[in-house]
Amino acid sequence: MDIEKILEENNVLKTGHFLLSSGLHSAKYFEKFRILENPELVVMFGKMIAEYYKNKGISIVCGPTTGGVIIAYEVARQMGLKCIFAESKPPEAGRVIRRGFTIPEGAKILVVDDILTTGGSIKETLDALKSFPGKVIGISVLIDRSSEAIKFNEMVPEAEFFACYKMAVKNYEPNNCSLCKVNIPLQAPGRGGKK
Ligand SMILES: [Zn+2]
Repeated sequence: MDIEKILEENNVLKTGHFLLSSGLHSAKYFEKFRILENPELVVMFGKMIAEYYKNKGISIVCGPTTGGVIIAYEVARQMGLKCIFAESKPPEAGRVIRRGFTIPEGAKILVVDDILTTGGSIKETLDALKSFPGKVIGISVLIDRSSEAIKFNEMVPEAEFFACYKMAVKNYEPNNCSLCKVNIPLQAPGRGGKK
């Protein structure tokens, strides 16, 4: 299966000059909502993740809001498991698991998110899980676009990582961006900016 082609055909993977939510610039951008709005694609990626973890004894799936929940829910559906989520709690930082969600003693937890860039939302989810029983044994994402290996192992030493698709994307500081230097127009996707 040519995932890169699927991502391009569905306007998920874009090439140009983009302002990321981190403030950095990049020549590639993944518009995750072109996946999340499409149940067929969510089912397809959910299947890759469910297949990968199918013999690992997972007992519950957990994802961070907003996009992570949609993928986590589909993975849980395919694995016949329950799905819970970790939500942000503004104005405080971090995430919290509430809504009466419980995790049984000894549960093996799979954390699922949409796109891995800095690992922030997954680390917040791992933090929120600390006050619950069970052990995180898997961390999975649709797309890993991080340019360096993100270390979750310090937090969850036994967790096995799986990404449906990986592309190491170089990010530039705005004051030292090779795309700015050649005057390619900067786009701000996901901020309601220019297309
Ligand atoms: Zn730039």
